[in-house]
Amino acid sequence: MIIVTHMFDLSTKIAVVTGANTGIGQGIAVALAEAGASIAAVGRSSMDETRALVEKCGVRFLEIKADLSSIAPIGTIVEETLKNLGGLDILVNNAGIIRRNDAIDFTEEDWDAVIDTNLKSAFFLSQAAGRHMIKAGHGKMINIASLLSFQGGIRIPSYTASKSGLAGITRLLACEWAAKGVNVNAIAPGYFVTNNTTALREDQDRNAQILARIPAGRWGSSSDIGGAAVFLASRASDYVHGTVLPVDGGWLAR
Ligand code: NAP
Repeated sequence: MIIVTHMFDLSTKIAVVTGANTGIGQGIAVALAEAGASIAAVGRSSMDETRALVEKCGVRFLEIKADLSSIAPIGTIVEETLKNLGGLDILVNNAGIIRRNDAIDFTEEDWDAVIDTNLKSAFFLSQAAGRHMIKAGHGKMINIASLLSFQGGIRIPSYTASKSGLAGITRLLACEWAAKGVNVNAIAPGYFVTNNTTALREDQDRNAQILARIPAGRWGSSSDIGGAAVFLASRASDYVHGTVLPVDGGWLAR
């Protein structure tokens, strides 16, 4: 029991989580904090709710205001974390958006907006954090991928491209950085109850189709995601590189 606790212990670790104000990002920030990590929460909306949940765990909390639709704030995120928390051991690239339209009508604006936030900013934040982690000789990166890293989906071309790309970048960075002590992996959430899926859940037919295909028989909640994140952030995953771990209630198994 002591060995198991020790393997997943994140006390003394410092984690940057993007999009930590709500949904999956908030669930991950709280789970990492429960395991002992201090949290730098990065985003464009108020982090008050996440701050309260994280501080309840007795760890430090830093809010970094950043709009990740461009890579302009990337340098500041790493600098602020190092200056205020004294390190950067874990990076969770979670911030993401989705735009829905038929491929035949899809606009360049909807293409660029999703690719810029979900893929370009995630890569350049990984690069900035990676420079620090490689120098330190250790680090853990977790990209929030999707079932659309494995499947095509419908009416979300830029989202599917971004999440398939993120899975590819996860593998590329793992190949480049595994020998330098940095683990790069991804989590692919299935269907979770968050702002991202409001439109799907409000469409009765789509909602019923989705539920019928999930072996677990329910949508995921933000508390379902933290365990996988703690695993990939901890010593327990030291020999795990370049994997995309589905947390999907069995969706991909069907
Ligand atoms: P969400 O509640 O909409 O959360 C998205 C997060 O990303 C929010 O914190 C949002 O901030 C942030 N974000 C978006 N654009 C940003 C920008 N330009 N700058 C900074 N932050 C930005 O949805 P979610 O489901 O928790 O999504 C989290 C991640 O999980 C996303 O990458 C999503 O693609 C992925 N995912 C979700 C599901 C699912 O079923 N929900 C499934 C697979 C993958 P604001 O609140 O300020 O907009």
